[in-house]
Parts: sequence; C-alpha cells; structure tokens
Amino acid sequence: MGLFSPLAMTQALPFLPLAQGDIDYQVSKRAQPGLIEELLQNPNTKVMLVSDGLVAVAKDPAGLRQHSGAPMSLATIPGNYAVHDVLNHQEVLPIFLGSYGPERDEYAVAVDISRISVDPRGNTRGVLPDAANTGADAALDESMPANKTSLSIFAHAKQQYDWVDLRTFAPHASARQVGQATTAIALSNWHTAQRYCPTCGSKVESALSGWAQRCTNESDGNRLLFPRVEPAVIVAIVDGEDRLLMQHNRAWNDASLFSVTAGFVEAGENLEHACRREAMEETGIRLGEVKYLGSQPWPFPASLMMAFKAQALTTEIHADGDETTDVRWMSRDQLTHALIAGEMSLPGKASIARHMIQEWYGQEI
Ligand SMILES: [Zn+2]
Repeated sequence: MGLFSPLAMTQALPFLPLAQGDIDYQVSKRAQPGLIEELLQNPNTKVMLVSDGLVAVAKDPAGLRQHSGAPMSLATIPGNYAVHDVLNHQEVLPIFLGSYGPERDEYAVAVDISRISVDPRGNTRGVLPDAANTGADAALDESMPANKTSLSIFAHAKQQYDWVDLRTFAPHASARQVGQATTAIALSNWHTAQRYCPTCGSKVESALSGWAQRCTNESDGNRLLFPRVEPAVIVAIVDGEDRLLMQHNRAWNDASLFSVTAGFVEAGENLEHACRREAMEETGIRLGEVKYLGSQPWPFPASLMMAFKAQALTTEIHADGDETTDVRWMSRDQLTHALIAGEMSLPGKASIARHMIQEWYGQEI
C-alpha cells in the first residue's frame, strides 16, 4: 500500500511536433558579412516566407486539405529570384535558418514580409506609395527605377499562396519543414514586437542573419539583443489510482476543452517550484515527485514549454475559479467515454499537452 508510483513507468516524450527539426544551424556563419547575399545567389538555397505569424504554403483552391488531412509543404522560391528584393528593402527581414542534406550544402533562408502591407488588389501599400497609384502597366515600365517595382514578388506572394499558422501546419508537414517554420515564426514574432532597444529606446536593426538585433545608438555601445523566450511549465498530474487531473480554463473559447496544468515560470523560480506553485494555485493539489518529460518551443508569441509528470500527494480539488473554472480527476475509461460522447475535447495535435495526455493514456487519441 502506498508503494505504487504512477511515475515509475513514465517515459520521456518520444515525439514532439515542434521539436523535430534536423537542420544544422551553422551558428558560426551568422556573423559573416554578406552571408545572406551569398546564400541567395546559391542555387542550393530555398527561401520560405513568413508573415504575421503565418507561413506560406502552396494554394489549395479546392479546399481539399482541410478535409483529407493531405500533406502540407512550405511554398519556397529560389534564392536568386528574391535576392534583389531582399537586399534592397529594409522592410523585408531575411533569416538564415541553416543547412541540411547529406553534404550539409542545401541552405534554408526565411524571409519575413510582415512589414509589407498589401491592399485587396495586390498593390503594396505603405511601403511603395508611388507604385501603388500607377497600376500594373506603369509598374512594368522600364523607365521606372527598378527598386520601385521590385517588391512586387513579395506583394504577390501574400496573395499567391495560402497562409497558415503553425498549429495548422505542424500536424500535416515534415519534421524538417516544421522546424524551419517554428524558428522563422519565433524570430519574426520577436522582431515584430521589439522595434526599439529596451535599454535606451533607440531603433534596432537585425543582426547575426536575423538571430539578434543591434541597438543603433553608439553611446549605448551598439549593444547586441537576443530573442526573448518565456519559459513555461506544463504538468500532467496523476494520483495513486493513476487518474489524470484535467482542467478547463476560463480563457478558452471551447467550453469542452480540457488540458493539463500549465503556467509561466516566475522570476527567480526553478522549474519544479513553478510546477508545484501552479498546481496549488489552479487546482489546490499538492505535488510529490516531479519528473521531466521533454520540451518544445511554442512561439505564440515566445514560449518554451517544459513538460513534467507529477504525483499528487492530495486529491481534493480546489479550482481557483478565476483562471481555472473546472478541474476533474479522469480515469482512462472516463476520458474515453467523455471524448466519444463529445463532452470533452483535447488540445491540438501540435501541442505538448496533447502528447502528455497521450503518454498517460497509453496510445494516440
Ligand atoms: Zn540601446
């Protein structure tokens, strides 16, 4: 009695959708002057596009993808097609993602076009006020300076491709492409959110091939700034009967959605403490042993989710009623019935929560 530890058979999560990328970051190349230009002129370079937290995928005019679960892949354009536009416009942000392939000689570059706005007719707006009023014929007039029309491939891209978010993309795409998309979206989100130096308020510019920013103020030492990552813990809590604690949060639109306990790590706190504190705050459950399961980036906008499984020392639930409105101990049978009856739904397939619930359940749900 009391000797059973539900954690004894727990395995580290073997597969996490956003943590499968096989790309070689080639970090030492990032500071190389002219790297982006050189890569874009290399025929082995593919350019993927990111904008406002979305990635470009090939168009699906018949809408088949949504129903068939058909594979999705990134729309890519050859580097030499984009090189002029990338180098001549500060509004587009190139990011060197790394290399892959058996010889590590295939390169991936992401181009963030979030700052190019496009009106419903496909003209760029805000970026090219002159060209926007002249129409397509004038835009092709060779007498016009080339840089007045050259953003058109990116303007077209916004309409030529379907744009999907990472949660939609991940379950249908290859591990490599999901890795590229995750990195590109994480960096794009950061560059979009941080336009000024947090220390002195001066403008920043992209540095290290998109992986950092440099403050433009010399008297601030042109300090180098790195992306913000917000650590969060997520905990699958089980009791002595191996039931899983599931909760519904007020902020979730889907009233039937239940997941495991999660929250951000506070300043000065370690991960295990964050697990125990969140469990107590949201559910009133006191935790015993806490075991690490794995992690994956969750760039919505900048989280890193670190997953744990924990043994409950108590079973009496006290939902905080504020953030968490419903908390239940679920057996596998109860969860099966609730899912079949449509009374309960689970987090999406790209989420680490879904994989934690499946780890406990013993199979894919
Ligand atoms: Zn500064």
